[in-house]
Amino acid sequence: MRFQCRCGEILSDTLVPNDIELFVYTDREFEKIMDLESIEDIPDPVYSVWKCTNCERILVFDEAIKLIKTYVLEEI
Ligand SMILES: [Zn+2]
Repeated sequence: MRFQCRCGEILSDTLVPNDIELFVYTDREFEKIMDLESIEDIPDPVYSVWKCTNCERILVFDEAIKLIKTYVLEEI
């Protein structure tokens, strides 16, 4: 899919591999993954998490690929 970040950058996950998509699992989910016998059994993460390559915003989509949260980079 393609999505335009609020900074204007067009993001797309159609290229594999890409630098947009992050695979985010909780520690509890990851423990279950470590017990799997085959890497083909690894489930997709519950949320699709993308990182904008321009502004580093984090975008979180639910299972229906609806944007539910964005996180903006905070200066340290
Ligand atoms: Zn952006």
